[in-house]
Amino acid sequence: MAHPKQKLSKARTAKRRSANRVAEASTTNNCFECGTVKRAHFACTKCGAYDKKRRVTVKVEKPAE
Ligand SMILES: [Zn+2]
Repeated sequence: MAHPKQKLSKARTAKRRSANRVAEASTTNNCFECGTVKRAHFACTKCGAYDKKRRVTVKVEKPAE
């Protein structure tokens, strides 16, 4: 049976795969709390809600005075 003469290094394989990789648009859905469009599996950037049990605090940047 045909057999590769040498092992392809991890780097070489990774380079080939990354070159042919097609960038996917990240999945978005609406926040169940405030309804803004947010990235799936990420906390909401506006209100910090992740799911009904967990939430994170969101830093609101104040404009410079
Ligand atoms: Zn939200």
